[in-house]
Amino acid sequence: MAELGKKGNPLKVAIVGAGPSGFYATDALINSNYNVVVDLIEKLPTPYGLVRSGVAPDHPKIKSSIQVFEKITDSKDFNFIGNVKLGDDVSIEELKKFYHAIILTVGAETDRSLSIPGEDITGSHTATEFVGWYNGHPEHREKTFDLSHETAVIIGQGNVAADVARILSKTIDELKFTDISEHALDVLSESKIKKIYIVGRRGPAQGKFTSKELKEFGELRDCNTIVDKSEIILNKASESELQDKKGRLQKKIYDLFVDYSKPLPVHRAREFPWTKPYIKKRNCYIQFLKSPVELKGSKKLEKIVFEKNSLSGDPFKQSAKGTGETYELDAGIIFRSIGYRGIALPGVPFHDSWGVIPNEAGRVMDNDTVVPQLYTAGWIKRGPSGIIGTNKACANETIEELLKDINQLNSKKDKLGSKGLYRVLDKKGIRYINFNEWKKIDEVEVKNGQEKGKPREKFTYVEEMLAQLI
Ligand code: NAP
Repeated sequence: MAELGKKGNPLKVAIVGAGPSGFYATDALINSNYNVVVDLIEKLPTPYGLVRSGVAPDHPKIKSSIQVFEKITDSKDFNFIGNVKLGDDVSIEELKKFYHAIILTVGAETDRSLSIPGEDITGSHTATEFVGWYNGHPEHREKTFDLSHETAVIIGQGNVAADVARILSKTIDELKFTDISEHALDVLSESKIKKIYIVGRRGPAQGKFTSKELKEFGELRDCNTIVDKSEIILNKASESELQDKKGRLQKKIYDLFVDYSKPLPVHRAREFPWTKPYIKKRNCYIQFLKSPVELKGSKKLEKIVFEKNSLSGDPFKQSAKGTGETYELDAGIIFRSIGYRGIALPGVPFHDSWGVIPNEAGRVMDNDTVVPQLYTAGWIKRGPSGIIGTNKACANETIEELLKDINQLNSKKDKLGSKGLYRVLDKKGIRYINFNEWKKIDEVEVKNGQEKGKPREKFTYVEEMLAQLI
């Protein structure tokens, strides 16, 4: 038999998780100097992970990466196997039997926790749930969000918090021609929210937003963005952070906070600029140096107890510490947007406190030992940071290491690849779907959207998706 990875004896790789990292890993393998066949396994019938169900509906440009991923699927060495869940439908041991290598690119599916009393009270949600819900993710379809109170609070100052705040702040007219799911649009159209607080535990020099995202808050049609002047006074360490070269991007963000702290501009109707100024319906308050310490309410959230913080530590290493001074804010809903967290996969080592698969440059590790055949890339490898493109370099590193191991990946027994996997799935009666079948679902979604002037109307139940294939 030919050498592994040469013509006639392809390296058979299963990649689990069809988000950006899964596609970038596929691309790197298919374009390597080896003959590789990639089966991209995904628990949903739909590919693209967070690009489909995480990226905000009003950010269509970010979704254009889908075109890049679609090109990768043209390769004859690529195979999409959707609607197959690792752990439930197939085990890691079975995959090891059928493939030379397995790459885990499952992302970070849950959120970090605040660990405060009342965190699980009705009305307290993770950002992940809300983002998944308005983006039509089947696992979040049945979640409910009560927007009947006038105050909503978002904890955390990263881009996910910005997405959540924007969706709550925008008018229906600003959202209705996006690919936001219909059920979410219906609930948002009844929203009574007037005040949205985006609360950071550290100061205005430490916000994790990017400036492009933060700038959008100055362009909301019916929502003012307000920063209290007294909250953007910097301590010495923060001043030196912003003066340092490393703090260049942070300075841009700080300057936007300064803009938002100025008196509100006078708004006049665009169509009738000579008419009386109008008052925007909503206010979005960006606040700093506060942490929620308790969520209170008899049956559902009524009050959030905040503690004021101060910063201590050297520049770029400052951390927030409670001052002991607390106050209460009436609120009906809170979103915890303090970073994603990976979930352990059955049969795969997991670093519980970091929420990632322990690895060295993508090789999965069990304590100090390399786990043969197992690799990882993306957020489950390095934690939830960076933009979509960041996953390309991350996946490339993993593939480079994997291909260095090609001789060790050789096995005496022939690897059946998808043939073996299909056999197991057929035996269990799993309805797996291929890429052409996904394209059929895709086509109907686009058609259903066009009727409403939207890029697509997503199916939000797996059964609905599969029904398109009958
Ligand atoms: P993130 O950028 O890491 O922000 C997390 C925020 O939560 C930070 O403000 C952090 O404050 C705060 N936080 C963490 N633990 C906390 C606690 N115990 N109490 C209070 N606050 C706490 O995470 P993310 O917003 O989930 O975004 C994840 C990644 O996706 C980021 O790289 C982001 O840029 C990217 N993303 C990009 C886009 C886009 O490009 N449009 C959209 C969405 C997401 P500290 O700084 O003090 O830790």
